[in-house]
Amino acid sequence: MSDALLIALREHVGQDNLLWGASIDERYKTDWSRAVSNEPLVVVRPKSTEQVSATLRLCHAHRHPVTVQGGMTGLVGGSQTNPGDVVISMEFLQGVQEIDTAASTLTVWAGTPLQRVQEAAQAQGLYFAVDLGARGSCQIGGNISTNAGGNRVIRYGMLREQVLGLEVVLADGTVLTNLNKMLKDNAGYDLKQLFIGSEGTLGVVTRAVLRLHPLPTETLTALCAVPDDEAVLGVLSRVRQQAGPSLLAFEVMWPDFYAFMTHRVAGIRSPLAELDRDSLVILMEFAADQSGLDSARLEHMLEQAAHAGLLTDAAIAQSGAQAESFWRIRDSVSEFPILLSPYTSFDVSLPIQTIGSFVKQLKPELVEQFPNVESLFFGHIGDSNLHIVVHVPGDRASFPKNKIDEVVYTLVKQFEGSVSAEHGIGTRKKPWLGYSRSPEEIALMKTIKAALDPHQILNRGKVI
Ligand SMILES: Cc1cc2nc3c(=O)[nH]c(=O)nc-3n(C[C@H](O)[C@H](O)[C@H](O)COP(=O)(O)OP(=O)(O)OC[C@H]3O[C@@H](n4cnc5c(N)ncnc54)[C@H](O)[C@@H]3O)c2cc1C
Repeated sequence: MSDALLIALREHVGQDNLLWGASIDERYKTDWSRAVSNEPLVVVRPKSTEQVSATLRLCHAHRHPVTVQGGMTGLVGGSQTNPGDVVISMEFLQGVQEIDTAASTLTVWAGTPLQRVQEAAQAQGLYFAVDLGARGSCQIGGNISTNAGGNRVIRYGMLREQVLGLEVVLADGTVLTNLNKMLKDNAGYDLKQLFIGSEGTLGVVTRAVLRLHPLPTETLTALCAVPDDEAVLGVLSRVRQQAGPSLLAFEVMWPDFYAFMTHRVAGIRSPLAELDRDSLVILMEFAADQSGLDSARLEHMLEQAAHAGLLTDAAIAQSGAQAESFWRIRDSVSEFPILLSPYTSFDVSLPIQTIGSFVKQLKPELVEQFPNVESLFFGHIGDSNLHIVVHVPGDRASFPKNKIDEVVYTLVKQFEGSVSAEHGIGTRKKPWLGYSRSPEEIALMKTIKAALDPHQILNRGKVI
């Protein structure tokens, strides 16, 4: 069966576009989550929509499972290979096809790295509004399939909000092309939404029309200490009202996270005076061009917040380099594997009013279960998104990951939050999907999956 499929793939997709046996590099076997590394049957690297379609048509006919791979930066095992899978790697299907400055749209092949999309838009004085740390490696098709978030969701929304049109290949090889550029298009069901955020389980994205925005040329960055989590919400509603659409980012760091970054990571210093034990730190970014805020208005806003008892200290970056140094405090998460191993991390959402109480309840629950635990909290709080890092000293083999997952996700369920804010479900969060979705919702997901992929070939065993 596998031999027959290989022969058919060679014939219809072309030998040059296939890798098999020893020519399959390690990087095709597992993603950034390093969940498991398995040997695929073959890696197909299509150079056109027709080749994606031919691959899927053949796999559908042979009932052969397929794993779709983008930039492999996913954090939940979504593009990790099952043994013997046909892998479709989108790496050769790249390039920006068109930028329409009148419509403010960009049409792009799915395998294009996010950073290339951003740079192409910027070269026309326009802005693609999704940005994340993996920008150089992740692909726009992967970003669409995971409905990626990032730092500027509070202003522009998630990836879903940036997609106007899509071309998708279904599991049986059918090509759906709707490269719509119009903001308004209510003709029947909005089918593209099925493929955004469904992590390659319903179809393979080959092309997209993305929405662009005016480029925010100048920004202002402020780092503020607040006395407690209630003050965070007070500052958030004030800056939302006073700065309106100029507010680009609102990131919050709990005391242990801020202390870790500013005391234990080499080269990072706090620009704020010594903080009280319970102080949280907010990092805010604002657009500061003609339509935005100026530094005098920002200073005034922060002074008012201080008079209202919401801020205890604040620093406004005086240069691009200083702004970068503020962001380094928030973004130096690559230090965790070096300084905090073994650890596990979480990406969850919670109703914004309850995030403070969630943290207050989770911390002692973790200590009760794991007396030497170290837990750090931070996140895109303006978007209800909390990241948690949990370290329990000891060797990797005895690290209690499943038990920690149980403690964290049980509390997320109690607080009616989401087990996945922006990273998706993949394989790693699959056991916990039922903590955020009802049996009826999961049954409907399975009905949709069965309708679009009756032989369950696409990303088998992932998400649902
Ligand atoms: C340092 C770092 C920082 C990160 N920061 C963020 C962040 O701030 N916000 C955030 O949301 N995520 C973040 N991520 C997670 C990750 O970068 C995103 O999930 C990203 O969107 C994945 O894109 P990718 O191309 O690497 O996809 P992959 O990892 O290759 O695949 C992800 C999923 O999408 C599917 N897929 C990929 N391409 C296609 C396609 N063309 N058609 C159909 N299905 C496809 C795969 O099968 C898989 O299920 C971060 C990751 C790292 C390593």
